[in-house]
Amino acid sequence: MPCEKRARTDAPPPHCAQGFLTKGKKPKPPPYLLRVPLDVLVAILSLLCPIALLNVARTSKDFYHFLTSPSASIVWKSARGQVLGLPVPSPPKDVLELRWAVLHFGRSTCNVCHDHTASIDLALLLRICNECRRQQLVTRYYADPSIL
Ligand SMILES: [Zn+2]
Repeated sequence: MPCEKRARTDAPPPHCAQGFLTKGKKPKPPPYLLRVPLDVLVAILSLLCPIALLNVARTSKDFYHFLTSPSASIVWKSARGQVLGLPVPSPPKDVLELRWAVLHFGRSTCNVCHDHTASIDLALLLRICNECRRQQLVTRYYADPSIL
């Protein structure tokens, strides 16, 4: 039986059904550290403090995706335990560990004006300075009673 020649298509080859291979480009392998077994990676990253984990998450998309995945929650929990001083509480269920770490260990400037040093507002999940709080937020003392 003669071999039939396959028709040329622009579709990606079957081994790259996700389409991450593009014409003329080889797929980029994940960083070496992400190719180690998961338990080894977790053991290595568990030694880091939250600020170091934030820096690792900012190095590549692969690390970002790993550190925002549920399997990395033990890494963040270990990192929070290494902070000296007051213990950092666990994040609420609907907040990513990475976002929680940015809130507590990221820049201490205001998220609104990016100028002044600000304190953490856990209700708003951001850092806000007193001036922005006064200008941007409406409290029950200043709100129109008819809309309450
Ligand atoms: Zn501000």
